[in-house]
Amino acid sequence: MSTALPHKRGWCPTAWQPMAAGDGLILRIRPRLARLSPDQMRLVADTARIHGNGAIDLTNRAALQLRGLSYNSWEQALQSLIAADLVDEDPGREARAILIAPDWQHGDDTHRLAIELYRRLDELPALPGKTGLAIDTGRVARLTGNSGDFRLERGETGDIILRADGRAAGVAIRHGGEIDALIGLARWFTESGGGEAGRMARHRAALPDWARGDLRPLSCATPPEQGAHPLGTALALPFGRMDAAMLELLAGIGGMRALRLTPWRIALLEGVAPTVPAIPFGDPRLLAVDACVGAPACPRASVETRTLAARLAPHISGRLHVSGCAKGCARAGPADLVATGDNGRFRIAFHARADDPAYAEDLSPDDLAALIESMFRAA
Ligand code: SF4
Repeated sequence: MSTALPHKRGWCPTAWQPMAAGDGLILRIRPRLARLSPDQMRLVADTARIHGNGAIDLTNRAALQLRGLSYNSWEQALQSLIAADLVDEDPGREARAILIAPDWQHGDDTHRLAIELYRRLDELPALPGKTGLAIDTGRVARLTGNSGDFRLERGETGDIILRADGRAAGVAIRHGGEIDALIGLARWFTESGGGEAGRMARHRAALPDWARGDLRPLSCATPPEQGAHPLGTALALPFGRMDAAMLELLAGIGGMRALRLTPWRIALLEGVAPTVPAIPFGDPRLLAVDACVGAPACPRASVETRTLAARLAPHISGRLHVSGCAKGCARAGPADLVATGDNGRFRIAFHARADDPAYAEDLSPDDLAALIESMFRAA
């Protein structure tokens, strides 16, 4: 087993290459089809509790992150996860970030294409760490706003289209040729210098004729709300956070067939009726709030973030972002209000990103809460 732990910026942690944080190593799991059986849920809960600090995050690419591992416990955790078929025994295949529309049904196009892609992962070229593939070919678009450099989607005409991220439209692909086209686009990306750009949306080389089209994807539906869902129940996870005890509880709920992971801080409880009393429903207001882990879990943070985010959320209409530092990990785009940690204090800005110029600065959490409460009371 490799023993090198990388620390360079711009890469993404995987199960094979955990990332060091303030609370220990982060181990990322990307379950196939973004779905865990109840036995796999229990295994992940046990792994998080025994080998980590019990905290589990759901990422914006529908992966799970176990936190607080040590170097020795990571190796044991990795072996358990490989044995449970939650991590690929090949580090290269495990590094592929694949996002699939979480409401897929067995045998539909999204399921069919995902299965074929998993089977053919070795045909993909080496890609920059943050690139990913998206399959969103249901009759309702789900992932248009979510990360994916090479995309199979449903076009407005009903065809399945191949679309390069950053391009508004794609090209129709014949039935059976979709994964060939997806792999072909990834190969073209690397052969045309995409590695320098790092992401498809930043790679401005003209697409080859076969990948260029004028078919737009369907308009994207909004993420599900907490409560009843066609698959069972949608459960909000504020800040994407759960823990080992919660995952174990979910695994034991009556009717639970599987947990499906989404990129929206929502977990889908497949087979579970929303009326089951044991479901630990989260505060849905916090779904409009982005907050990174902050201090002490992140060594770059000088402020605690999530307690403040929960305190501010009831006073704010629109999107709130509380960031431990200017890097803005929890939200790349602007928020209606962003509070950014800076040397143990906060600065704030409106309709801005975490690193944008401040409207006010040098604020303590109490200063900030008082300011926000007075501003929004007056509004
Ligand atoms: S935004 Fe800064 S403080 Fe928050 S997780 Fe990222 S690097 Fe850490």
